[in-house]
Amino acid sequence: MKRFLAFMLTILMILSMAVGCKKAEESPANTVNTDVTLFKPGTYTGTGKGLFGDITVEVEVDTDKILSINVKSHNESGTISDPAFDKIPKEIIEYQTVNVDAVSGCTGSSNGIIEAVTVALEQSCNDMSKITVAVQKENINVEKVNYSADVVIIGSGGAGLSAAVEALNAGRSVIVLEKMAGYGGNTARAGSALNSADPEMQEKEEMSSGELSRIYDILELQPKNDLMKGWQETLKKEIDEYKEKGVTYLFDSPSLHKLQTYIGGDYVADPELIDVLADNTLDAINFLKETGVKWEERVTIAMGATWQRSHNPSAVDGTNKGVFVNTLVDTIDKKGGQLLLEHKAEELIMADGKCVGVRGVKGNGQPFEVQATKGVIIATGGFSANVEMRQKYNKHWANLDESLATSNHTGATGDGIIMAENVGAELVGMEWIQLTPWGSLGIPTAAIDNMVFVNQEGQRFVSEDNRRDVMAGEALKQSNSHFYMIYDGHTVVDGVSVGSGKRFDEETKKLDFVYKADSLEELAQKINMPYETLKETIDDFNRAVEEGNDAFGRTVFAEKIDKSPFYATYTCPVVHHTMGGIKINTNAQVINTDGKPIENLYAAGEVTGGIHGSNRLGGNAIADIFVFGRIAGQNVSK
Ligand code: FAD
Repeated sequence: MKRFLAFMLTILMILSMAVGCKKAEESPANTVNTDVTLFKPGTYTGTGKGLFGDITVEVEVDTDKILSINVKSHNESGTISDPAFDKIPKEIIEYQTVNVDAVSGCTGSSNGIIEAVTVALEQSCNDMSKITVAVQKENINVEKVNYSADVVIIGSGGAGLSAAVEALNAGRSVIVLEKMAGYGGNTARAGSALNSADPEMQEKEEMSSGELSRIYDILELQPKNDLMKGWQETLKKEIDEYKEKGVTYLFDSPSLHKLQTYIGGDYVADPELIDVLADNTLDAINFLKETGVKWEERVTIAMGATWQRSHNPSAVDGTNKGVFVNTLVDTIDKKGGQLLLEHKAEELIMADGKCVGVRGVKGNGQPFEVQATKGVIIATGGFSANVEMRQKYNKHWANLDESLATSNHTGATGDGIIMAENVGAELVGMEWIQLTPWGSLGIPTAAIDNMVFVNQEGQRFVSEDNRRDVMAGEALKQSNSHFYMIYDGHTVVDGVSVGSGKRFDEETKKLDFVYKADSLEELAQKINMPYETLKETIDDFNRAVEEGNDAFGRTVFAEKIDKSPFYATYTCPVVHHTMGGIKINTNAQVINTDGKPIENLYAAGEVTGGIHGSNRLGGNAIADIFVFGRIAGQNVSK
């Protein structure tokens, strides 16, 4: 819903009842009111409900005008809500009305700001009807805007931004087109775990006997092709050397990462792409380090990662969401790249079989065209938020209609896939759509090292280090398809979540699906769960941590769940990731339906298919977007 007229009317009704504001009258749109008594001059405070609690603003008015709006406090989510804080106050002042459009992608925050300003103004305004008229944005310029650059990148998520940095490093001029009002797409929302074998970090962790035996199981598997055979041979040598050393730390290597990615995706992925992925993840981490990203000192295991190799960026200002995006946007700015928000690409321009540019439309309706002398990179992300596409391609889940929510931002609508298909690109693996067992908000980290999943009856139902599709499938079988993630003072220490540095308690105190209690018994009461059963479940799990032998076959353990405070996050499966997309080769070139690269056309990130197979390992998408984003940026520049 773009316009929040209904919301505004409700607010107004309540307000006019409370303070006897005059009944609404017709007023011409967007005219500065000349009634000198419209406002009682001064500065007024108002509070509204954002997505994560209260937003408080101070609004300054003189007799006939809203002069300024200052946001005093809020609990919204950094990069994601920034566009609302940038845009809504400006528009309210420009148009002198609180009846402005919510910013797409951050409607909850927009709503909260509008409500807060309304509440503030209500204390001073003599006639609210005059400042609630709908904005009439007249005279949209229909004249086409023309741009040109060596490299044009569609999408400002991790794939697009890292491609832009590489192209700028190669001396190319770059334009990044972003359709939303803010940067970052899903990358700005991500838990940000990035999988990479990294012996230096993994030497800090112990390996369980279960983990070692999983490696031997992998070596026993019948290879599907020469690449897999080669990975197994390398792994065999590496693990023999490891054993000879007599050490007990966590083993890892790119060959194990490749095998787990290939097996975890049921051998559906293109092994050549996996080969490139796992060989370049450490480089991607270092690349991000050079742009300014700081990394946590320990590796964790992102949910569904199947191995403890997830690297996490350190939090900035209490959150690590948006860290990659903010650092890359700054880097692009400094290097002279152009980032164009609210520029939606709609069509690739082709000439003699080459991609030479992009056509689209700006947020205000004005058309634009960008010429690309070297080429175009499609980095528009997946299609989890496009219910029609989900339904069209789904073959494996009972139903992916709108009754299933998505963790994705609203712009994850598969635009790049459609544009590429229109110019002859091959699509691969479109039916592989990932449900994650959990909706993402409110969990302390993307790591499962120290938590269990428990249904409403207080019982575990799956090993928490399993594949995401298995866990989501099992979660859908529980009462009301929901469950709780139970964790404790080992995961959140003094209000801060371990491994990410996020101010967890502060971020979640207003969320009604995150529960905190001093004891397990109190927690059980809060979530209406039989305490005896929950206690038995946690006791069994703690025994498994001690003995390394879990009834559900879990092999990843850290600490027992025995340290106050205890937490429960209510959650359920949501549509999370689309594994299918545009077919690319190892140079990130887009491949057409004849199996040939389309000249000057590249793609990277979630918009592509073939890297994750049927099931993406947690932590492998962030690895993918930076590895292939960089490759696309380097190759388009050649
Ligand atoms: P995005 O980051 O989605 O960026 C694509 C951009 O393109 C968007 O900004 C979009 O608005 C823009 N765009 C789309 N269409 C157009 C158009 N027509 N014109 C112009 N612009 C357009 N993976 C991990 O590996 N580890 C994690 O911890 C993790 N956590 C996650 C948590 C959440 C809540 C979610 C939703 C995903 C998570 N993932 C994680 C998955 C991962 O974040 C995504 O796969 C990845 O960020 C996708 O990056 P991308 O650059 O391909 O696309």
